[in-house]
Amino acid sequence: MAEPLTDQPNDPPVLEVRDLARHYPIRGGLLRRQVGTVRAVDGISFSIGRRETVALVGESGSGKSTAARSILQLGGRPTSGSVRFEGTELTEMSPRQLRALRRRMQMIFQDPHSSLNPRLTVGAIVREPLDIAGDKSRPERRQRVAELLEAVGLRKEMQSRFPHEFSGGQRQRIGIARALATEPSLVIADEPFAALDVSIQAQVVNLLAELRQEFNLTYLIILHDLSMAEYISDRIAVMYLGRIVELADTRELFREPAHPYTKALLSAVPQVYESHHDRPPALRGEIPSPESPPPGCHFHPRCPFASDVCLNEPELRSISVGGRDRLVACHHAKDLLTELPVAVTTKPRV
Ligand code: ADP
Repeated sequence: MAEPLTDQPNDPPVLEVRDLARHYPIRGGLLRRQVGTVRAVDGISFSIGRRETVALVGESGSGKSTAARSILQLGGRPTSGSVRFEGTELTEMSPRQLRALRRRMQMIFQDPHSSLNPRLTVGAIVREPLDIAGDKSRPERRQRVAELLEAVGLRKEMQSRFPHEFSGGQRQRIGIARALATEPSLVIADEPFAALDVSIQAQVVNLLAELRQEFNLTYLIILHDLSMAEYISDRIAVMYLGRIVELADTRELFREPAHPYTKALLSAVPQVYESHHDRPPALRGEIPSPESPPPGCHFHPRCPFASDVCLNEPELRSISVGGRDRLVACHHAKDLLTELPVAVTTKPRV
């Protein structure tokens, strides 16, 4: 397995994921015997440095949410692999130890409407993690809630209102304030922009970037397409059917995607390619089930460049693109780099 790239070689990573797998048994028949296995996450490795933002990108069903839950040890233990958070191995921790550590690893959810309790005031929602932690006095907690609301661009007087009185963007801000209540160092955001109007998405992107600076945060952000990844991330890990197929610096990846799957995802992003002529082939067909993934390279049945060699599984290995290293799992990656048009990116990154 290739070493995951990290931009901060001297600073220990906040999160180190090695060969992480999460398989679910499929049961059938009267006796509920195991008749198959869903390989939702099938051996992924990457690390994230302090104050770095990594986007985990891929179509729906590629295993991103399962990866996030497995990192946080939610919904059962990973099937195998290692997750180190600030140097501590999480997969070997007791539930009690994990509960204590979860304060430092928080999650922001896609739908701010369903993730906020409609019966609680905004103040109570943001305060709840502090109440559970129980290490601050009442006035301290109240003070902290006011500070958090202001940090996310809401007024502290809004504490007494209920979630339904807010817009989608404001509700996402409340969810972010709640996630930050216990002073986490790692924040995992699962599709944080998907439920928001396009006009609001940029505001939340900017807010996350500001909060990263202010609170020294490290982000893992899950996205189903690449369009927002360009604005928010330093590096991008592209996932397909349980595996990482490309891991690269965001600008480099937008400048020249190496894996055919990344090329296809990028071809769907408006304004990346100057003309229709330059645009690589769009994604065809549906993502297969992780219950019976295609042999070899999982992407080969949908890949316009597939050949016989693709029936063997490609290793995720380091290749040099424009003088910089990145990780790619494709037998043809090197040949394709010189044959396809180069993407031009026009957007500045936040
Ligand atoms: P993504 O977040 O990329 O959309 P998910 O992690 O939600 O992908 O799902 C990856 C695959 O794992 C999907 O095929 C999904 O149906 C399957 N899966 C997720 N959770 C479970 C589970 N608890 N039991 C069985 N299969 C699951």
